[in-house]
Amino acid sequence: MDQTKIDALRAQPVAAFSHLIEGKHVPASDGGTMDILSPINGQVFTTTAKGTVADMQAAIISARDAFEDGRWAGQSPADRKKVLMKWADLIEANALELAVLGVRDNGTEINMAIKAEPGSAAGTIRYYAEALDKIYGEIAPTSLDILGMIHKEPVGVVGAIIPWNFPMMIGAWKLGPALAMGNSVVLKPSETASLSLMRMCALALEAGLPAGVLNAVTGEGAVVGEVLGLSMDVDVLVFTGSGGTGRRLMEYAARSNMKRVYLELGGKSPNIIFADAPNLDEAAKIAAGGIFRNSGQVCVAGSRLLVEASIHDEFVAAVAKAASHMRVGNPLDMSTAIGAVNSEIQLTQNLGYVDTAVKEGGEIVLGGKRILEETGGYYMAPTIVTGVTPEATLTQKEVFGPVLGVTAFDTDEDAVRLANATVYGLAGAVWTGNLSRAHQMVRRVRTGVMHVNTYGGADGTVPLGGVGQSGNGSDKSMHAIEKYINLKTAWIKL
Ligand code: NAD
Repeated sequence: MDQTKIDALRAQPVAAFSHLIEGKHVPASDGGTMDILSPINGQVFTTTAKGTVADMQAAIISARDAFEDGRWAGQSPADRKKVLMKWADLIEANALELAVLGVRDNGTEINMAIKAEPGSAAGTIRYYAEALDKIYGEIAPTSLDILGMIHKEPVGVVGAIIPWNFPMMIGAWKLGPALAMGNSVVLKPSETASLSLMRMCALALEAGLPAGVLNAVTGEGAVVGEVLGLSMDVDVLVFTGSGGTGRRLMEYAARSNMKRVYLELGGKSPNIIFADAPNLDEAAKIAAGGIFRNSGQVCVAGSRLLVEASIHDEFVAAVAKAASHMRVGNPLDMSTAIGAVNSEIQLTQNLGYVDTAVKEGGEIVLGGKRILEETGGYYMAPTIVTGVTPEATLTQKEVFGPVLGVTAFDTDEDAVRLANATVYGLAGAVWTGNLSRAHQMVRRVRTGVMHVNTYGGADGTVPLGGVGQSGNGSDKSMHAIEKYINLKTAWIKL
């Protein structure tokens, strides 16, 4: 990565975006557009189609037709693999351009975006491309006069609804396994971060994905997202986003065709620090990165720091020191460690949570305010609040911003009780030099992912999914494939 190339790309005008339906770039049926505002400076830098009900219906019909005529599902696995491998190559070949476009749209710092967005998306597409011709059906252990076969079939049309924090990475988590298994997809990106994902979808066509197999419609969740959720022609809905929207999607499914709904929702992940952790300085630096990178807009962010009381003050001081060394600024500068908050609404919401935390008895030991307002962009100082009780809003509600709540604990039992004191269960970590304690914590803390002596960085070989109100099903790894297939039994009398 090179700053001169980034500077050249960030200065380029960005042409208006449209939907991708039946292999064509098409505007909204009523000509409507939405302004795309950059969180870097608060300025409009392009527009995208504002999808209508008719647009989403057209995209669904196109995907259904594409599935039924077998233009993709009917291709040999080897042919499907070639297309997906080429798509991954094209994403990599255009990585910097995609990353800069994405950062202008959502504000993630470029040094994180380049790896987490095109880098991870290409890796994910390639992972499922490589896997698709190694997934076999099964023969059941029956008596000799019966052949019991289990076929793994594509589900049909998948609706995928994506959030704004890592659009390409999360988009690829859904698109990779869904397309690998032969499904058609209708994608709905977020209003506030659609551009890089839309361009990534266009690259799939360049790679040879047949028209109609992947359609993408931009617009408001409450309009086009609702049509997707209520459609009788969508077989499976996969979603990453907030719990409120997740609930709606379950309602849509119940009110329509009872489609399967998989939800990857929010978290309030505990990062548990014991005094016997092998390297507390390292733990402090990683704890700061684990909540403040991408301005805390990371589903697995370690937003609750639970610290053994005997080291509370020195550890909090070390996290504050590490955080104060993380430069907040223009996300397209390579030296920036923390970029912009995605939108003004999100920033206002973050600051509201800090006010509430103080009213509820918390003490701000770092940050707590908006910064760099003169840029017109949405920036917030990394914020640490101590004295957060188990009942406090900062324990119970996901902020999805650069706000770390700290709570002290005395015993292992206390740590487990505090860690499990929310409705969420997405991720967590334990830092300790005691092997037994580490394994006990992994077992007892209710989450989908537990880290030991690290935070974040789990790659595509392992699943990511939540328990409780953090969702169901998983993205990543071979387990994700289960969402995109139906098992069909053939019971044959010989
Ligand atoms: P959101 O729920 O507001 O929006 C997500 C998507 O849903 C967007 O595309 C939006 O347009 C669409 N949508 C909104 N209303 C809809 C409706 N009525 N019908 C259909 N679609 C609708 O979430 P967000 O603010 O974009 O993302 C932040 C949330 O995502 C946080 O809670 C975060 O924790 C969560 N998240 C979870 C994971 C994970 O893997 N578990 C990963 C990243 C983000």
